[in-house]
Amino acid sequence: MAAAAAETEVAAAAAANLTGMELDLPVDPNEPTYCFCNQVSFGEMVACNNPDQSKIDWFHFGCVGLKEQPKGKWYCSDCAAAKNSCKADDA
Ligand SMILES: [Zn+2]
Ligand SMILES: [Zn+2]
Repeated sequence: MAAAAAETEVAAAAAANLTGMELDLPVDPNEPTYCFCNQVSFGEMVACNNPDQSKIDWFHFGCVGLKEQPKGKWYCSDCAAAKNSCKADDA
């Protein structure tokens, strides 16, 4: 049965094509990314107040556990940890 064999080949090719398929994320490659999650900006964002912050300075509320804009200064967990390890000023 030559027809059956050909059908199996087509099915195998289709399966191979499916597994080799890459996920096409709807993200503009030129859009800058932020936050620990390295995603583009969306929703509400909060800025780290550490003036020495060099790599990431904006974070998604959800990623840092915020629900509203913090009052006063806010530091990302990296900077907060760094501050805590050498608490010199407000002790
Ligand atoms: Zn994030
Ligand atoms: Zn920071």
